Order: sequence, then structure tokens, then C-alpha cells
Amino acid sequence: MTMTATVLTATTEAGNGVRPLAGKVALVTGGSRGIGRAIALRLAADGAAVALTFRSGQDLAEQVVKEIERAGGQAWAVRADSGDAAAVRASVAGAVDRFGRLDILVNNAGIGVLAPFEDIALDDVDRVLWTNVRAPFLAAQAAAAHLPEGGRIISIGSCMAERVAFPGGSLYATSKAALTGLTRTLARELGPRGITANLVHPGPIDTDMNPADGDSAAMQAGLTALGAYGRGTDVAATVAHLAGDGGRYITGASIAVDGGFAA
Ligand code: NDP
Repeated sequence: MTMTATVLTATTEAGNGVRPLAGKVALVTGGSRGIGRAIALRLAADGAAVALTFRSGQDLAEQVVKEIERAGGQAWAVRADSGDAAAVRASVAGAVDRFGRLDILVNNAGIGVLAPFEDIALDDVDRVLWTNVRAPFLAAQAAAAHLPEGGRIISIGSCMAERVAFPGGSLYATSKAALTGLTRTLARELGPRGITANLVHPGPIDTDMNPADGDSAAMQAGLTALGAYGRGTDVAATVAHLAGDGGRYITGASIAVDGGFAA
């Protein structure tokens, strides 16, 4: 039987009229749906011009752009499949062309394959590692050429990278754990230029990827200290903190937004 998990009630979704990111430009990968959409809307509400990438969901991406523009912000959507290195690099260059600079890269686009370790096909290994590891690596590399002092690289990992292990999660956990190595090293390499690199590890967040009415939702919610799923806006609030002045002295960090998963 499928049981719907409780989702924590959303509170503040934007910055109460304060626009701490005014004048900044952000690129959010996978900004058409789910957590990426919430991040794009939140950074725009905080004043940033936002470029967002999508793979197939052009209509949804354009809706996000319209929503930001209706609220008086600037946004631009670009198709960039994470599996396509040239497209990933072009999306970074496109954001700079469009808005004149790049201050914040959010590596959000990601996919999951959950299956017993021994059943995972080579195609799945390539697809997940290219999307969840190679693309963030290449995007960070392309962005680093443009990020000014105060620039931010924020990647979306998973509680499965460090905090909890589930049977069936070997490939996904491997990909997300790789971002820890990337983030910590970027913090060191780019720190002298005043650029920070951090990871946000969501727990169960109600999206298409992990719906709060899915088969394992009640089990996942039950493993959190709060006994509930979170929302994309919960992750977006932490990304906004890292992107803003509050993130000035945070780098190389992994921050859990997981309702106390395995606390
Ligand atoms: P969704 O499946 O709801 O949304 C995924 C987004 O990424 C979409 O915008 C999608 O674009 C984009 N995307 C997927 N594959 C590609 C690709 N190959 N190239 C470009 N864009 C792509 O996922 P979530 O919002 O739930 O997840 C966002 C991030 O958070 C992921 O990295 C995920 O691993 C991580 N995460 C999520 C958790 C959860 O419980 N939801 C928990 C822990 C981590 P399009 O619409 O065009 O397909």
C-alpha cells in the first residue's frame, strides 16, 4: 500500500522584499522543475538575474522565466543536456553573454537510478555519472573562468552521499559522493580568488523525482527526525543563504537540508 508522507508546510519563500542578490547573475542547472525551479525563483526573488537550463521541459522552463519576469525580474532558459559537454559549456557562456557576468553557479540537475548493485547496466552508470558528476565538473570549470571575487559554486548533492545508505542506491550515492571531492578541492583552488564552493545535501524533498506519495515515501519520512518530507523551497533557502552575504565565510562545506535524516 502506498502512503503519502507528510510534507512540512512551506514558510517564507522569498526574501521579504530585501534583495540581497541585486546586480548578481546566477545559472541554475535543471531549473525547470522541482528543487531547481524553487532555487531559480528564490534567487530571482532575492534580486539575481537567473539563467536556467533544462533538458526536455522547455514549456516548464519558459513558465519559470515568465513567473520571474512577471515579478519584475530577469530570466533566460536554455536547453543544455547534462550529457552534452558542449551544451553545458555553452550554457555558461550564454548566461554571461545574456547578462554580462556570472556570480553564482548552482549545479542542481541530477538523475537517480535505484536498482540492486549487480543489476546496474553500463549505460546507466554512464548516464548517471555524466549527469551528476561530469556536467557539474564541466560547468564549474567553465564558470570559474568568469566568476569574480565573491563568486559562488553551489552543488546539490544528497543525504545519500554522506548521511544514509540505502540498498539500491549504489550508483546514485557514488555520483553524489563525488561532488564532495569536487567541492572541497574547488574550495581550496578557488579560495585564493575569493570564490566559495559548497554542497547542499537534501533529504526527501517532494518533487517528481521523489514524490511524497511515492512507494517508499512513508519509509523515507519516517527516517527523518521531523517525520516529514521537505519542499524545494527549503533547499532554495539554504542555497540563497550560501549565495548571499551569509555565505561569505562558508566554503568547502556540506550542509544537510534533510529534516534530520539519520540524526
Ligand atoms: P526532478 O526530477 O524533479 O527535476 C530534475 C531537473 O533536472 C529538471 O529540471 C530536469 O530538466 C533537469 N535534468 C534532469 N536531467 C537532466 C539532464 N540530463 N540535462 C539537463 N537537465 C536535466 O529532480 P529534483 O528536483 O528532485 O532534484 C534536483 C536535484 O536534487 C538533483 O540533483 C537530485 O539528485 C537532488 N536531490 C533530490 C532529492 C529529492 O528527494 N527530490 C533528494 C536529494 C537530492 P527537464 O525537466 O528538462 O527534464
